[in-house]
Amino acid sequence: MNPLINDEKHYVTLSNYLKSIYHKKVFKISLNGNFSCPNRDGTISKIGCIFCSKEGSGDFAGDKNLSIAEQFTNVAHQMEEKWPDGYYIAYFQANTNTYDTLENLKKRYDQIYDGKTLLNDKIKILSIATRPDCLNEEIVQYLANINKTLPVWIELGFQTMHQTTAILINRGYSNEVFEEALKLLKKYHLTIIVHIINGLPGESMQDMIDTAKYLNNLDIDGIKIHMLHIMKNTYLANMYKHNPFPILSLNEYVEIVTTQLRYLNDQIVIHRLTGDAPKDLLIEPLWTLKKFIVINEIDKLMRKKQIYQGDLCIK
Ligand code: SF4
Repeated sequence: MNPLINDEKHYVTLSNYLKSIYHKKVFKISLNGNFSCPNRDGTISKIGCIFCSKEGSGDFAGDKNLSIAEQFTNVAHQMEEKWPDGYYIAYFQANTNTYDTLENLKKRYDQIYDGKTLLNDKIKILSIATRPDCLNEEIVQYLANINKTLPVWIELGFQTMHQTTAILINRGYSNEVFEEALKLLKKYHLTIIVHIINGLPGESMQDMIDTAKYLNNLDIDGIKIHMLHIMKNTYLANMYKHNPFPILSLNEYVEIVTTQLRYLNDQIVIHRLTGDAPKDLLIEPLWTLKKFIVINEIDKLMRKKQIYQGDLCIK
């Protein structure tokens, strides 16, 4: 069993993983590179993924009117006052952060690391959220070059393995495209983190578990598991208003997540087990606002049942 799994946490938490490497607390600073998204600008569609907020799922990212360096430095200054000893992950969160020409990507990422100098010596990781259909060999080679000095994580919003749901949520790419992107990223040794969503309309508990099993059979390094958030001013909010669908209860969510974890091998780092949504924008489910309780219930159930990440994994 992975030594990072212990009596308290029956799965590999991101925080324990980072501590094991850097021996310090590592904080994520969310940045807004002012990118667009092909699923919103009309290239694929104008609707976007139906749950996506107008901030491109980057409601906590920085102010896009500031430069990347300014966004980073502003937050880092505040953090330093509280945790002078911490390290940082520069996280490009909002929209699709590889959706531009290589020249324009360099203008953003050079502000963090230009191949010679880091914006701040405490930056240990560059994390980039994107879509699998917005990666090509030229871009991945460029990121692989950064990765030689500064570890690069690529975060892919996958959400579900089920094609019917992918169409319903307007994801805009197929599983084949996703698998090709994984191969390309692995060819260049980049770290891959995949996001999935539980509670998507029409999905059963088994469907959600099957998504975890599917990912376990691919070459991924980390996972973020979210509960579906219905947020104001989204296509999903409108759909829910006119055609309400069942929302998972906290207990159901905990049951599903703890089962998903059992099918994920213990080398996959668990980056998240619940998501963040701005309180004033969240319509449902309101129990997700109490993140601490959600995590606590997951931990409690795993300890009570004596179950662990990977104990049902057959890879
Ligand atoms: S790919 Fe990301 S940014 Fe684009 S619509 Fe979907 S969730 Fe929003």
